[in-house]
Amino acid sequence: MTEAATGREQVPVAGPRTLTILGATGSIGKSTLDLVERNSAAFEIVALTAQSNVADLASAARRTRARLAVIGDASKHEELREALSGTGIRTAAGPEAVTAAAAERADCVMAAIVGAAGLEPTFEAVRQGRRVALANKECLVSAGDVFMSAVADAKAELLPVDSEHSAALQALAGAAPESIERIVLTASGGPFRTWNSEELERATPEQALRHPNWSMGAKITIDSATLMNKGLELIEAYHLFPVSAQQLGTVVHPQSIVHCLVSYTDGSVLAQMAFPDMRTPIALALSWPQRMSAPTQRLDLAAVGTLSFEPPDEKRFPALTIARDALLRGGTAPAILSAANEVAVEAFLSRQIGFLDIVRVVAETLEAAEARGAIITAGSLAEVLAADAEGRRLARDVLVRYV
Ligand code: NAD
Ligand code: MG
Repeated sequence: MTEAATGREQVPVAGPRTLTILGATGSIGKSTLDLVERNSAAFEIVALTAQSNVADLASAARRTRARLAVIGDASKHEELREALSGTGIRTAAGPEAVTAAAAERADCVMAAIVGAAGLEPTFEAVRQGRRVALANKECLVSAGDVFMSAVADAKAELLPVDSEHSAALQALAGAAPESIERIVLTASGGPFRTWNSEELERATPEQALRHPNWSMGAKITIDSATLMNKGLELIEAYHLFPVSAQQLGTVVHPQSIVHCLVSYTDGSVLAQMAFPDMRTPIALALSWPQRMSAPTQRLDLAAVGTLSFEPPDEKRFPALTIARDALLRGGTAPAILSAANEVAVEAFLSRQIGFLDIVRVVAETLEAAEARGAIITAGSLAEVLAADAEGRRLARDVLVRYV
């Protein structure tokens, strides 16, 4: 995220709009807080949640005068209570309290918890019929059909925060589904775009965490290095937009200026561009259908000079193939893919397995799930969570062969 402010006048959105941020201490959470604090007259914070970082949570709650602060790790409740004593800010702790925070009355809920841990609270926000600014892509990857049904049933409003999907929303501009030919998501290619297989085999967590264009949380940064992130995003796009899996594609674009391209039946292609800074898609989700100002670096195409595009190399980066296959397989295959990937990324970050082993573990977990008949159609969140748990169990079994 760039800090280069433009010095433009801040135009507040119509408001104040009440807002809850789930995952307030993460990369997306902090970017959201930055926008909120620059437009403080436009937003009122209902609740902020975090898993374990009491200091950052308490500081954000004090600064924004939040009504409620929730820490997921229940053993840290006392510490949070002390940090907020005398402020009048209510506190709560534990996973159920995080979900309860999502149910508090608010105009908008920013769903920015990482991983499957975000499913229950985000579903709760949806059930309340809120506007949900969705950063947690796992809701769509693991629970796509169930999640989209819940959105429709509750008449919730879903706005994607992932930059490619925010770009698609804009480039689609309410187009008739039959006029859309193709949606192509761009991928930066990550830090290893030009590395060969031998180099990839030896890649370290430090090298993988050094993303060339985006500043993000650790999990998604590793996913960007394997290209699993782009695979997860294909699944996300499939559920968000009225297209088939065959109409979705990816292209590597190292500058990360163009975020998505939508092609129409008349040959026209609409692309959305912006300097890579998550505050742009977050601002759109918060202010849609209006726009609010975001202090991001302005795009100067003459200064950028060249925008280049190349096909992804699925031999070196097979995560894309595996994710697309899971989408086509359907049922709980994407939930198992996502769970196995979370387990494998954690193992890579703790140096138990190598970089290329991440995708091997995911592929073998899916094969094991298929062999056991564990890929089924999930009709409820409970069934999705069971598939997630099964995916983690199977992945840990596979993992022991690599450590
Ligand atoms: P992060 O790791 O920086 O932050 C995660 C947040 O979730 C933290 O506030 C943490 O306290 C909270 N959290 C973690 N485990 C939890 C648990 N068990 N229960 C409750 N809360 C928990 O992650 P991030 O990079 O901000 O990403 C958040 C989500 O947004 C992910 O799903 C990611 O894929 C998606 N996303 C992120 C970016 C980005 O630029 N960072 C871009 C697109 C999509
Ligand atoms: Mg993205």
